[in-house]
Amino acid sequence: MNLILLGAPGAGKGTQATKIADRYGLVHISTGDIFRANIKNGTKIGLLAKSYIDKGELVPDEVTCDIVRDRLTWDDVKNSNGYLLDGFPRNLFQAGELDKFAKIDGVVNINIDFSLLMDRLCGRRVCKECGESYHVSTLNGATTCSRCGGELYQRKDDNPETVKSRLDVYTAQTQPLIDYYTKKGIILNFTGTEAPAEVLFEEVKTVLDKLAK
Ligand code: ADP
Ligand code: ZN
Repeated sequence: MNLILLGAPGAGKGTQATKIADRYGLVHISTGDIFRANIKNGTKIGLLAKSYIDKGELVPDEVTCDIVRDRLTWDDVKNSNGYLLDGFPRNLFQAGELDKFAKIDGVVNINIDFSLLMDRLCGRRVCKECGESYHVSTLNGATTCSRCGGELYQRKDDNPETVKSRLDVYTAQTQPLIDYYTKKGIILNFTGTEAPAEVLFEEVKTVLDKLAK
């Protein structure tokens, strides 16, 4: 089963992605994570990506599509039940390219009230080790991950100005994908809430269990 996870920045994609990948034995492929790893390691791709990510803009399509096309040929993908694309495609061009090298079974789309996102993203803290997300308002001053003990940090693009442009990019470029996949008949719509991620995952599970059969 090959899936796409769609949703605005801050909709809770990352958390659902981990749960979905675990349950169905899918390889979790996050283009954002790939870019951040490249930045950390100082690669050429990292250097290029950083200039766009810091402004909240999209990394050029050719670079991004090449990375995903290559990633899907790795052995872990071949030896799994499929993959979950998180953060890709992000515009219609990328979706068209993806159609040339992949067969997608379902698109999990998390709809969320935009008014929640600015606070969510600017207050977000992420574990350096396992990637788990937290919100400052519930950390009570803690600086380490309750799951693995890793150090928490704030992503450089989680500041008001960059968040604003990420949300604008989502509206202009990514939102049209909902229509694109609705027309293909493979969209699965969910409503993100302020409730714990487990609540949403229960609904996702019900739908994906059927699809996985
Ligand atoms: P979020 O969904 O919270 O914005 P991501 O980790 O998915 O976070 O992406 C962070 C940044 O990485 C994006 O703002 C963008 O600059 C870049 N990026 C990630 N995926 C893509 C993609 N498919 N195409 C172009 N840029 C991307
Ligand atoms: Zn952790």
